[in-house]
Amino acid sequence: MTTRETLRPISAPAIPRFYNAASLDGLLRRAGLAGPDRLMARAVAAVLPFRVNDYVVDALIDWDAAPDDPIYRLVFPQPDMLPAEQVAPIAQLLARGAPTREVQAAAAAVRAALNPHPAGQRELNVPELAGTRLDGLQHKYPETVLYFPAHGQTCHAYCTYCFRWAQFVQEPHLRMASRNVDDLVRYVHAHPEVTDVLITGGDPMVMSAEMLARCVLPLLDEPGLGHLQSIRIGTKSLSYWPARFVTDPGADDTLRLFERVVASGRSLALMAHYSHPRELETDLAEHAVRRVLATGAVIRTQGPVIRSVNDDAGSWAAMWQRQVRLGMVPYYMFVERDTGPRGYFEVALLRAYEIFSAAYRSVSGLGRTVRGPVMSATPGKVVVDGVHTVGAEKYIALRFLQCRDPGLVNRPFLARYDPRACWWDDLRPPVGAAPGVPWSSWGADHGPDIPLAR
Ligand SMILES: *Cc1c(COP(=O)(O)O)cnc(C)c1O
Ligand code: SF4
Repeated sequence: MTTRETLRPISAPAIPRFYNAASLDGLLRRAGLAGPDRLMARAVAAVLPFRVNDYVVDALIDWDAAPDDPIYRLVFPQPDMLPAEQVAPIAQLLARGAPTREVQAAAAAVRAALNPHPAGQRELNVPELAGTRLDGLQHKYPETVLYFPAHGQTCHAYCTYCFRWAQFVQEPHLRMASRNVDDLVRYVHAHPEVTDVLITGGDPMVMSAEMLARCVLPLLDEPGLGHLQSIRIGTKSLSYWPARFVTDPGADDTLRLFERVVASGRSLALMAHYSHPRELETDLAEHAVRRVLATGAVIRTQGPVIRSVNDDAGSWAAMWQRQVRLGMVPYYMFVERDTGPRGYFEVALLRAYEIFSAAYRSVSGLGRTVRGPVMSATPGKVVVDGVHTVGAEKYIALRFLQCRDPGLVNRPFLARYDPRACWWDDLRPPVGAAPGVPWSSWGADHGPDIPLAR
């Protein structure tokens, strides 16, 4: 393991400094944006969350390439990211210095039109115990419960494409969060089928080591949780704030906590979100990965394929290769979900499949642990397996990696060929096919995105 002393001093800060919408204009100028574009970008930042820290600004973004730089595009609002007819009125309010209250009201109306909670996540997956809804928990697939600790519902920086964006804007009714780890413990206790708890956000690694320990330790210490095998933490901190594991005041306590999980006989997995190979290029990022792995934790990597950020096979191949070299395990390549500014970032399913395949072919088997491109849709996680040709007809081949109905997992099925389809609800059963598994296997109770219902 490398030592702290080998780090470049610039990349080893202890405390992050944040930029928010109030300091956005100066950064937009630095990227070379003209006045009207800056105004539109600020209007977008009134609708969607904006936050970035000095590590991302100073160590990850290539300012000479901005505004086209992929990391710049990953975190900065783009002037044309949302439909102009929605954003222009907000830009006008900003231009004439309208009161914040007015800007906020206009922004709230735009947000409501952006499908803030995709895949029915607020209605469908919230579990109950003894007749009480457990807000801040989700249980969709039998083995895995998601836990959203209230203090982990922000991030070190916000991705422009985030599908959890509704968590970060000041509208409490759009938020899922738990203040009570007892709910989680009682729920897992009552559900012997649960083998995994996934602590997620936001980014739970924004929490102090002490706060994180309050979520994790009860899962280790409580009797009757022998069926719990893995604790996962979904995080982008290895990219956006690797100091969290190196020089941050809570770094060592966090690593000791990870060691305690491993010592309890359970697996601790960081589900690390990476969007671009540059996130793995700093000494600090590499050092953070090595320190986490030295605790016995596993790091599995995942991220969505995003137009103008990483929609090329070279980026994915480079990411997977670097990840494998550092001892991480590539896990999922996702398709951008149907929420927020998805029209701006979306990549057609078959194009995502081409990107995935070209990258997959160019890495060794150690990198081919990755699955994708995967849609996390209402019925489950669906992977696109490419184009299947029978006679003169082409079809899109699909498979469930996870499903509300576990019996459907890993069974191949076909959809009508459509190179423009970008999401699950763009897909249709093959013409003439008898309604069958899986197209007819979820009924009207599963929401509006049912292919046969259209
Ligand atoms: C992806 C996901 C999981 C975990 O699925 P794995 O395939 O086990 O990684 C659990 N719950 C929800 C709601 C998910 O979207
Ligand atoms: S790190 Fe994850 S939760 Fe946070 S903004 Fe990015 S995509 Fe959203």
